[in-house]
Amino acid sequence: MKLRFLGAIGEVGRAAILVETREARILLDYGVKPSEPEPLFPGHISPKDLDAVVITHAHLDHSGAAPLLMLNGGVKVYATDMTFKLCDILLRDFLKLSGYYVPYEVLEVEELIRRGVRVEYGETVRVKDAEITFLDAGHIPGSLQVLVNADKTLLYTGDYSIVRTRLLSGARDIPRDADVVVTESTYALTEHPHRQELEKEFAKSVKEVMELGGRVLVPAFAVARSQEIMCVLEAHGIRKNVSLDGMAVKVLDLFLENREYIDGYQLLYSAAKHVSRVNDRRKRRRAAEKPGVIISPAGMLKGGPAAFYVERIFDDPYSAIFLVSFQIPGTPGARLLEEGKLTIRGEDVQVRSRVRQFLFSAHSGRSELREVLRRMRSDARVFVIHGEPDACKDLASYARDELGLDARVPEKAVEYEV
Ligand SMILES: [Zn+2]
Repeated sequence: MKLRFLGAIGEVGRAAILVETREARILLDYGVKPSEPEPLFPGHISPKDLDAVVITHAHLDHSGAAPLLMLNGGVKVYATDMTFKLCDILLRDFLKLSGYYVPYEVLEVEELIRRGVRVEYGETVRVKDAEITFLDAGHIPGSLQVLVNADKTLLYTGDYSIVRTRLLSGARDIPRDADVVVTESTYALTEHPHRQELEKEFAKSVKEVMELGGRVLVPAFAVARSQEIMCVLEAHGIRKNVSLDGMAVKVLDLFLENREYIDGYQLLYSAAKHVSRVNDRRKRRRAAEKPGVIISPAGMLKGGPAAFYVERIFDDPYSAIFLVSFQIPGTPGARLLEEGKLTIRGEDVQVRSRVRQFLFSAHSGRSELREVLRRMRSDARVFVIHGEPDACKDLASYARDELGLDARVPEKAVEYEV
C-alpha cells in the first residue's frame, strides 16, 4: 500500500489523502482551506486516475474541492446521505461567497449530490482489491472514519470525537488493529473543558443576562454547533425567547427530517418546538430588540446574520456576546476576545456588552487523541495530519516517544510505502 498527502500537512484544512493498493487508487477527502482573499486547494488529481473517493464529512475542509472530481465524467464518490445533503447547502454557500476564486460551478455541485453513492455506518464496499468500511466518527451528523483493507489495513480517523455531546454519542468501536493510522490533530495541544461543567457554566451565564432583561448573541457554526446550543439551552430549562437565524435554520430542518443521524433526537425535537425560526427581516429586527437568546452564524462573526445582531448589541452593557467555539486568529471573533473591539460599518468600536468564550468542540482534545493512539497496535505506523504544525509535531512525538509507534508528520509530495 502507498500513501500520498495532497493537503492538511501541518495545517487545518484541505484534507486529501491518496491511498494506492496493488489495483486501486482511492482518494480520502478532497477539501479546501478557507483563506483570504482566496481559498487554498489541495494538490491536483484527475478523476480519471481514481477508482473511488470518500468524503468523511461535509465541512468544507474535507469536501470543498470534491466537485472538481465531477469534471470529465467524474468518479464514484462515497459518503453518507447526510453528508451529501449538508454538502448541498455548504458548497452552494461556498460558491456564493467565494465563487470568483473557485474553479467549479453549481453544475458540478449538483452532479456530486446527484451521483454520489450513499453509504451507511458499518457498511463495506469493494473497490478492485480493496475493501472500504465506513464507521461513525461522532464529529458532526453523517461524519465517517474510513477503514481501507487490502494487503495492509489503513484507518483514517477523519475529524472525530469520542466525547458524547447533546447531538451525538461520539465515535465508538474505533478499530485497534490497523497497520497504518492517519489521524487528525486539530486540538493536540488543547485540553477540552469537561463537557457537563462547560454546559452548566454556559447556561448559568445566559440566565444571568436574561434575568437583567438583556440579549445574548451566540454566534455559532450553522452545522451542528447551533443545534447543539439549542439542545443545551433546552436541557437547562431555557426555553423562552430563543431565536435561531440564518443557515442554521435550514440545517435544523435537515436534522429533524433525518433522525437516524441524531443520537439526541428527542431533545433536539423538543428544543425545536421552543425556538423561533427567524426567516425574514421583520422577525430579525424583533429578535434583535427583545430580551432573549439569539443563535446565529457565523461562528467567528465573519458575516452571516450574526453581523446584524452585533450592531444592535455591542453597545449595551446589559447584553452579551457568547462565543461557543475556538476563534481562528485574524477573525473578528478572535479580535473581540483579544481587544474587546469590532469593526462595525467600517469603524472600530469598543464593545460594551459582556463577552465570553465557551470552548464547545466537536473534535477530540489532547487527552482523547492520545488515548485513541494508546489503544493501537504496538507496530502500527502513524501519520499525523490536520493540525497546526506544533499540534501535528506534538502528537507525533507523543506517539513515537511515549508509545514507541512509528509516527511522523508526513511531507508534501512524498510517497510513503507502508
Ligand atoms: Zn470537520
